[in-house]
Amino acid sequence: MNSPEPAPKPESATRKLDCVVVGGGAAGLSAAVNMGRMRRSVLLVDERDRFRWQHMIHNYLGFPDGLPAAEIRRLGWRQAARFGAELLLGHVTTATRHGDRFRLRIERLPEGGARGGAPGPTVARDAEIARMFGEVPPGGPIEVLARTVILATGVFGHFPEFPGRDDCVGRSLFWCIHCDGYESIDRVVGVVGHDEDAVQTALDLLVFTSRVTIVAGRPEGFEVPASRLADLAASGITAHPCAVAEYENRDGQMRALVLDDPGRTRIPVEQVYTVRRTWAASELARQLGLELNALGQIVVTSEQHTNVPGVYAAGDATSLHDHQVSAAVHEGNQAACGANYHLYRPAQRAPGDTAAR
Ligand SMILES: Cc1cc2nc3c(=O)[nH]c(=O)nc-3n(C[C@H](O)[C@H](O)[C@H](O)COP(=O)(O)OP(=O)(O)OC[C@H]3O[C@@H](n4cnc5c(N)ncnc54)[C@H](O)[C@@H]3O)c2cc1C
Repeated sequence: MNSPEPAPKPESATRKLDCVVVGGGAAGLSAAVNMGRMRRSVLLVDERDRFRWQHMIHNYLGFPDGLPAAEIRRLGWRQAARFGAELLLGHVTTATRHGDRFRLRIERLPEGGARGGAPGPTVARDAEIARMFGEVPPGGPIEVLARTVILATGVFGHFPEFPGRDDCVGRSLFWCIHCDGYESIDRVVGVVGHDEDAVQTALDLLVFTSRVTIVAGRPEGFEVPASRLADLAASGITAHPCAVAEYENRDGQMRALVLDDPGRTRIPVEQVYTVRRTWAASELARQLGLELNALGQIVVTSEQHTNVPGVYAAGDATSLHDHQVSAAVHEGNQAACGANYHLYRPAQRAPGDTAAR
């Protein structure tokens, strides 16, 4: 005998909200702050995946001594909570259309976030601060219905996996000279990457230091014309067309790139820039039917509208601007403006504008 179908969940058990923001980096927090200030019910869901990285932000206006990226998030939690946003530590697994709303399923996570509860002062401190700002305590999966969704899910893949990597990120391991080139003045730097972006990064670094080496980071060598390898040589940059066997490091300090060549050549370095193709966290975007570009980034207008009315995207997950905190903050704010307008009743919209965008 077939077991009976489970009874459908009563609608009242599903929370209804004006907006769900997915991702609690600079873009998502900016969106949550601004939705809160427009008196919308907003839930911000973040899996705290990148919280172990201790990188400093040096170029964000108003902080002349720099500010740890993690501190920006903590301040952002406080600001978002102050304006009524609800914080939830979780992973949004699915997002689908449900009439004129969006149904999101959220797996709640333990205190350590997406990578589990590895002990450590940062995790404990974040958990404590999050509780202070009213973060919803861990529990079972939940479903919510939202009238608007803002995707601010960022990107993955800046760095290769190797032991000690997370301690090096932002201290001696970088990816962007716009962000961190200044920290490379007169340092011994290795660039790992095989394409034009990597070659360009190596050449750009000469503004900061003359001691630059580039390693392709794959057995196939470089994927650039011979003329570009000649440009490197003419600029005093040695190019190694092989993979990296080991990223030697200790206590957050890169020490050497060990090449995957017959002699396992060891190149001492103080810093490493890895230049790799990142990918956007676009699974939810696909489920929602959003238009993506060839890199999987969400295609948005300058007002952060996607091709699906009611869904907005902001920050690194989109392709609109350079991937910087300042851009993420702006885009999050803009996405909130768009979502707020979508929630207006027809009478509140500009004359002749009847379509909810
Ligand atoms: C080492 C390093 C140094 C940098 N230095 C600088 C600098 O000096 N200046 C500068 O301006 N910029 C710098 N940047 C870039 C800057 O950090 C990014 O541009 C900015 O963080 C983008 O913000 P975001 O909110 O779009 O994405 P993120 O900050 O990446 O946040 C996205 C969040 O979404 C969460 N998430 C993703 N999918 C889900 C899901 N399904 N459910 C729940 N949560 C989810 C992730 O866990 C993450 O917390 C640096 C970046 C790195 C890595």
